[in-house]
Amino acid sequence: MGVLSLKNPFHDAEVRPHQRAVLRALLWFTCSAVLLFAVMHLYIGDTWLAVAELCLVGYAALLLYVLQEMDRLRTRSLLFIVPFFVVMMYALASPENGLTVFVWVLLVPLLSHLLLGRWQGMLVAMVFMMCAGVIFVFKFEMTPGMPGLIEVVHISLCAIAIFGFSYVYEVSRERTEEELRRLALVDPLTGLPNRTRFRDVFARERQRYLRHKTPLSLLVVDVDHFKRVNDTLGHDAGDMALRFVADILSGRIRKTDIAGRLGGEEFGILLSGADIDYARPVAVMLRDRVRLRPFRYHGQDIALSVSIGIAELGRDGLDFRSVFAHADRRLYEAKASGRNRVVG
Ligand code: GH3
Ligand code: MG
Ligand code: MG
Repeated sequence: MGVLSLKNPFHDAEVRPHQRAVLRALLWFTCSAVLLFAVMHLYIGDTWLAVAELCLVGYAALLLYVLQEMDRLRTRSLLFIVPFFVVMMYALASPENGLTVFVWVLLVPLLSHLLLGRWQGMLVAMVFMMCAGVIFVFKFEMTPGMPGLIEVVHISLCAIAIFGFSYVYEVSRERTEEELRRLALVDPLTGLPNRTRFRDVFARERQRYLRHKTPLSLLVVDVDHFKRVNDTLGHDAGDMALRFVADILSGRIRKTDIAGRLGGEEFGILLSGADIDYARPVAVMLRDRVRLRPFRYHGQDIALSVSIGIAELGRDGLDFRSVFAHADRRLYEAKASGRNRVVG
């Protein structure tokens, strides 16, 4: 099938707005609350912890400054969250701090999942929660007046519960996001990428053309006299006919190509690595496939045909608008010269 996968459509370079917002909130929190802690720790003489906290504050301020231009947000989040948790572990281990400092561990699973997603978040949260557990055991074994079992159970169970809830939340958030994305990018009738997705792919292929001169051809395919199908057989038959044509078009192209529904009874096909001379016989083959495979409706064979206009990126302009305009003009010529034609 020539339909590009819509799974995992996010590249690492792409930024999810909620992660940017959470990272910004964490950076502001670090710049304010952690600064306050640093001053407090300086005051009570815990100098090394204060220095570590001040370094973290400086790092957070720097990241806040460059946050707008930041891509690869996941990686950057990881590069902040790890030192943030390391300083937190240091604070847990500090003999100046008592049992209550361990409530900060509750932030670990929450921030990890929100900023790093399901798998990375789970891994980072588990590592630092285990670290906190080890620090706890060492610290209170050596300290007289070990806290009661009940306090330990409260903090541990609460941390585990937050871990579980954050994980479940992140899984369902990812699924919802995936579904929304699919709904926004897929044409519900034919299951093909819609115009928006099609243009996205064009933009990506355009970059490949600009960088490596990889040719790209666009086919604009329009079903001939489609209104007649609707008028004579009804709208349902029209819908089925559109699905039928979509299956032929997407089933007969390579995996690297993409067929999309541009609107109504008009489809677009992007042939990656193909100049117009390569695209022409492909278009003729597609036109013949539609012509030769009758569409069966209630035992009746309905003859369908398509007209196709072809344009090539570079030769016919450097953006979607102008390449599409050339293909559309040729499609119009194909219609004017009798339909069931390829022009390009
Ligand atoms: P031409 O050969 O010049 O392209 O003629 P045509 O009849 O195909 O073109 P026209 O633009 O006159 O009509 C297109 C028709 O396609 C009209 C519209 O009702 C129908 N159509 C558009 N989208 C859908 C759809 O999703 N389902 C159905 N059943 N019909 C649709
Ligand atoms: Mg038509
Ligand atoms: Mg049309």
